[in-house]
Amino acid sequence: EDPRIKQAVVETVEQYGFGAAASRLISGTMQAHTELEAAFASFLHKEASLYFPSGWTANQAVLTTLPQKGDLVLLDRYDHASIIDPVKACEADFRTYRRNQPERLEKYLADSKYNNRFIVTESVFSMDGDTANLTELVELRNKYNAILIVDEAHSVGCFGSTGAGLCEQEGILDDVDIVIAPLGKAIAATGGIVAGAKVVIDMLVNKARPFIYTTAPSPVVAAAAFKSLEIIRSEPDRRERLQKNAAFLRNAFVDMDLDIGNSTTQIIPVILGDSAKAMKVSKKLYDAGYFISAIRPPTVPPGTARLRVSVQSDHTQEQLDGLCGLLTQIDAE
Ligand SMILES: *Cc1c(COP(=O)(O)O)cnc(C)c1O
Repeated sequence: EDPRIKQAVVETVEQYGFGAAASRLISGTMQAHTELEAAFASFLHKEASLYFPSGWTANQAVLTTLPQKGDLVLLDRYDHASIIDPVKACEADFRTYRRNQPERLEKYLADSKYNNRFIVTESVFSMDGDTANLTELVELRNKYNAILIVDEAHSVGCFGSTGAGLCEQEGILDDVDIVIAPLGKAIAATGGIVAGAKVVIDMLVNKARPFIYTTAPSPVVAAAAFKSLEIIRSEPDRRERLQKNAAFLRNAFVDMDLDIGNSTTQIIPVILGDSAKAMKVSKKLYDAGYFISAIRPPTVPPGTARLRVSVQSDHTQEQLDGLCGLLTQIDAE
């Protein structure tokens, strides 16, 4: 909706048209792609970055290319499907860990039969709005010389002094080997960025089939993402308003005795348990002007159907109060 992004889109489409017309390595690489990659490399404190058509393909490329036979990949139990699926398909072994069992994770890391160990986590978990224990993961990465990959899909643009995400906010961005930044959420574009050391990015360019054998993303979308990044970096007040709104709702929901799990972010689940009830409340909220999806199993564990509230910086106090008012009536359902 931002007029500056619309203008970037119009200017780019007038200059280049919409489609890139070829894969990146044939003739599809355009200035809009390389500019976006340079901007994200510096934003995420890495030597280089690579732009993929989606966050899904970014994860797929990294996780089917880097882990090899003889390696071990460790996944948070609640990692996104775009992380889990390629790991299941790759040649390496994998294990999942629970966030409250760091000793289990450490035991896996200590297994000396593996060549390389990868830890792959989201920073902000998409269905619970809780966060990974990033400092603990960095300590384990350092102790066991592991490779730490963090997917910041719900975090880029929302946290950190420059908006680079939770890793920036926690001061550990430089200790993360690879940052994945899907652009469909706070960046409001489409695509996915992989940022890391130049050798890693070079390897992806040369080996990652989801990069090589797909048409380059539209330069128009790349230009929109570029402009969006510029706005994120220069307008920290958006993040401040976002976190203020999120804290207000979390506190209000807790005061109302609603179950918000361990959310500490702008993603706030209201766990109702029963799928039919979640559907019914969601419909009622929709009719009142609030578009809040009911998330049901198998996307979330059985018995934890929920409303997934995703608050924005532009929501007004009146809107937040209105939502709280409607949710006080939930138990009458
Ligand atoms: C949405 C999401 C993705 C996928 O990104 P797309 O650009 O929609 O393909 C990857 N990882 C996480 C954690 C996500 O939430």
